Amino acid sequence: NPLFHSVAFFALIFIGSDLISLPFDYYSTFVIEEKYGFNKTSLGTFFSDKLKGYILSLIVGGGLLLVFLWLIHQMGPHFWWIFWAVAAVFMVLVNLFYTAWILPLFNKLTPLEDGELKQKIIHYAQSVSFPLENILVMDGSKRSAKANAFFSGFGKRKKVVLYDTLLEQHPPDELVAVLAHEVGHYKKKHIILGMLTSVLQVGLLLFLLSQFIFSENMSLALGGSGWSAQLNIIGFTMLFSPISMIIGIGMNWLSRKNEFEADAFAKETFEGKPLAEALKTLSVKTLSNINPHPWYVFVNYSHPPLLDRLEKLEK
Ligand SMILES: [Zn+2]
Repeated sequence: NPLFHSVAFFALIFIGSDLISLPFDYYSTFVIEEKYGFNKTSLGTFFSDKLKGYILSLIVGGGLLLVFLWLIHQMGPHFWWIFWAVAAVFMVLVNLFYTAWILPLFNKLTPLEDGELKQKIIHYAQSVSFPLENILVMDGSKRSAKANAFFSGFGKRKKVVLYDTLLEQHPPDELVAVLAHEVGHYKKKHIILGMLTSVLQVGLLLFLLSQFIFSENMSLALGGSGWSAQLNIIGFTMLFSPISMIIGIGMNWLSRKNEFEADAFAKETFEGKPLAEALKTLSVKTLSNINPHPWYVFVNYSHPPLLDRLEKLEK
């Protein structure tokens, strides 16, 4: 059965590459992050994360792979747009249910307790008519001292997730300013446009793949004895990597532009000063580079460097 053959091939690649990267993950968490005081992960959490990750990959990744390969074998050249539709629906579903279904597998989420902070957040959300359903605190300190905050959900059912590490580090005004920045991403349509761009990217990727996937020459060039879907997929990922790098640079440029817009939104609708203070604290706590090389920023940074953001906030 060629379908089973392909699935077994990718399962072996997955297990093999994971075994190779395991010691590096371990070193990164328990040696490098530990050395600078970031690591809070216990060995138990590290390995149970791995195990849960495997089970999720097996069910979700395996399921998608099966549909993908089945379409290639059954639908021929039409597979790409059918799978594009499947992938688009899947991406929207993950976005909708990430906080409700996936996140709780790895972290504990508790509603933010009543008090000054909750009052201020609700007050701010109302002032910019942002539909806030729930404010949750996540035990990020279970793994790392690094802090974060994000929104999830569509339409009228938005949830804010604050890391407990963020709550520890910042007074209420700074936390509201951080949220105002996140609300800025929503109000300036960055979230919906980001989603659309990802869907378009997947479409482009699948279309290009459809031009290569049935080539017997590619399989032969990779050492196969005849046409093979899995060999052509591996070959395609190699050919696609320079394109993916160029797309990545474009996406980072767009993301940095969006960060400035979200900062400006926070300044307009709340205040610039507490956001500037929060950014400084975050930068110090994560030991981020104060003076990165501009070209390095151009290629790799999804967020503008601290000094650029402060300069714009203080203008
Ligand atoms: Zn942002």
